[in-house]
Parts: sequence; C-alpha cells; structure tokens
Amino acid sequence: MRLTILGSGGGSGVPNPFCLCANCEAVRRTGGRSLRNAPAVLINGDLLIDCGPDVYNSAKQLGVRLNGLRTLVITHRHSDHLDPWFFWGRRGVVDTELPLLTVYAPQDVLDQVFAFYERNVRWDRAALEVQTRTAWRPVGAGMMKLAGRYRLHFFPATHGEGQLEAVLVGVQDAHGAYLHCYDTGPLTDEAWGMLARHRFDLVALDACIGGETGYQSPEHMNGPQTIDHARRMRESGILKPEGVALATHFVHQAAGAHEDLVAYYEPHGLTVSYDGLELTVGE
Ligand SMILES: [Zn+2]
Ligand SMILES: [Zn+2]
Ligand SMILES: [Zn+2]
Repeated sequence: MRLTILGSGGGSGVPNPFCLCANCEAVRRTGGRSLRNAPAVLINGDLLIDCGPDVYNSAKQLGVRLNGLRTLVITHRHSDHLDPWFFWGRRGVVDTELPLLTVYAPQDVLDQVFAFYERNVRWDRAALEVQTRTAWRPVGAGMMKLAGRYRLHFFPATHGEGQLEAVLVGVQDAHGAYLHCYDTGPLTDEAWGMLARHRFDLVALDACIGGETGYQSPEHMNGPQTIDHARRMRESGILKPEGVALATHFVHQAAGAHEDLVAYYEPHGLTVSYDGLELTVGE
C-alpha cells in the first residue's frame, strides 16, 4: 500500500495568509516541509481521503494525477476536508475517460454537497452523479464497505461537538492497512473497543494542538494525547510492532517550523507528516 500525504495541515493550512503570528512567520522563513496544505491523503493513486480546498494545488505541486480515482472518503464536512467545487473539475476533462468515483461520507456531507449543487448549478442529485461521474454512499461509525480492492471500516471520531457527523476510516487492501485519524480528540471507549479487532501498518493521528499542553479541546489532541494514543495503539497491537505512527493535521496556532515538530514528536516514536511524504506500508 502506497500513501502520499497531499496535505498535512488543518484549517486554513500553514501559514494562514492573514496571520503574522510567530508560527506563520517561522514557516514563511523556513518554507519547504513547514508549508502545509489542508488535509488529504492519496492511497495507491485510486483512493483519496478528504477533498478540501487545497487538493488541486497539492496535486499540481506534487505532480500527482487524480484521473485514476475510484474511491473517495470524506470524513466530515468541515471546510478543510470538503470543498464542494472539488467535483466540478471532473466535468471538463478532455481525452480522458474517468472511472466512476464512489464517494463514502456521513449523510450530512451528502446533504451539504447536494444542496450546494442544487443552489449554485441547479443540479439535483441525479444530475450531479451523471455530470461528475460520481455515486454517493452514506456511511457511519461501525459500518464496513467493500470498495473495489479495499475494505473500509468506519469508526467514531471525537469531533464536531454534536454539530456534525465525523468518522475515522481504516483502509485495508491485500498488502496493508492504514488508519486515518486526522480530526479527533481523545478516542472514546467505544472507538477503542471497535479498533481492538484491527491491526494497522500505519496510523495518522491528530496533532492539532501540539505543545500547547495547557489547552484541552473536545475535538483535537494536544501533544501528550497524540503521543499517548500512539503508545497505546502500539501496546495493544492496533498498530503493528513495526508499524508507523504519524503525527499530522497541524495548524498555525500550534505548529511552526517542521524541524521543531520533529524534535517534539520523534523522540516519542512518531514520524512527523509533511506535504509530499510518500510511505509504502505492509507487504
Ligand atoms: Zn480538519
Ligand atoms: Zn499564524
Ligand atoms: Zn474538523
């Protein structure tokens, strides 16, 4: 299983163009891996997780094509994970035959995208599906879906404060398994119980709050919480002994230069994500 991190940031990405905070300024000085687009992960060139406003730019910058995409998972409807215009570009392709793209997302994501196209383009769901060559499937925590060569397992995220549905997703193919926990606070007992039946080669963990350890969020993790989740996953076997734990979803309020994040997380056995990071996991 081959993963490409298209975006390792969260929210407005890093830096925020309106912001002159010490982190944003440090990131502007260092550039490179410190610059972070909104979250998206591409697997084997045919499965994408999340489609926020930076995916087109990430693809451009990294030389990635999305014409092979067959499966899209949208974890929740926050704006860094879902830009409804993402689908618009699928209409304009030339000399390209796009395979059907099946989209798995919570029902409120489907509702939002359908309402968006109804309002802006006067397309109903059927028109959207034909025009963008997509098929939409609602999912929720506890469900499993067979998507081509993948098994998708959905787990409850601690995120959204009751205002929206949010899922974590486990992606398994014949070679490996990846657990995507980009946006979540500390996992619930229910989530731990469901995860206990799984073995992953790679887990990406929310590291949104980082070293701001005085701050406890109901929907993101601070550094010690991220580190503790990686340790617990390893100890319980949810993450295989040789598996990789990735700290990700960095925001400018907490994350500055990449090297500083490496110094913070790597001594605890976590790899620090960056845009363009490629990983091959499993057999
Ligand atoms: Zn996010
Ligand atoms: Zn800032
Ligand atoms: Zn979110």
